[in-house]
Amino acid sequence: MRPVNKGSIPKNTDGSDKKFTDYKQVKDDLRTRLGSFCSYCEMNIDNQPDIEHVSPKSKKPELETDWNNFLLACKPCNIIKDNNNANRDGYVFPDTHNTAFLYDYSILGVRVKDNLPNDVKILATATFNLVQLNRKLDTSSRTDDRALARLNAWNKAQDALKDFLELPENNAMIRQTARSCNGFFSLWIQIFKDYPEVKKAILENVSGTDMECYDENFNPKENLRRSDR
Ligand SMILES: [Zn+2]
Repeated sequence: MRPVNKGSIPKNTDGSDKKFTDYKQVKDDLRTRLGSFCSYCEMNIDNQPDIEHVSPKSKKPELETDWNNFLLACKPCNIIKDNNNANRDGYVFPDTHNTAFLYDYSILGVRVKDNLPNDVKILATATFNLVQLNRKLDTSSRTDDRALARLNAWNKAQDALKDFLELPENNAMIRQTARSCNGFFSLWIQIFKDYPEVKKAILENVSGTDMECYDENFNPKENLRRSDR
């Protein structure tokens, strides 16, 4: 789960803070700050991004138009999460925690990493379950394409790795490889773990990645707390 920093409240042209009277007004600012990707599953949501209230608006109506309560989500993550959490307590979220090192990707899907400290694992699992991050393809209604999209990304990243290895020192190839990544960033970072230049380009190509959560080789740091949160 890509850790993000969406920055401070967007400004009006006169330099004052924007006041949102309806949460739907925030969509363009969120897309600019975070890119059109689900903050949870990292799927591309160019066509239909949902504005996600981290603390559900039904449970925390006072946060309905609060910039600090917004993320972007795909329909499945948003629908599944619904109002099942009361607030942020007991979970990790990509705008407050370093969520970069918590999950492991494979051709089989995504899972919580085995070797996490127990207290971290409990929080990582709670968020994993909150959006059912590894839910399998819903073939009957086709309402949840996350698993299929992630599998496609896995195969695309493996193909990109094969191509990259034909010209691994070539800057144009590094840029081209990074441009091939259009979501599921954490999966790509894992597949390109031995190639810092590619990881750097992937993470910097998308708005809002919190680079403080990665080390000098662009691998996820393994501390949950962030210095700025
Ligand atoms: Zn999602």
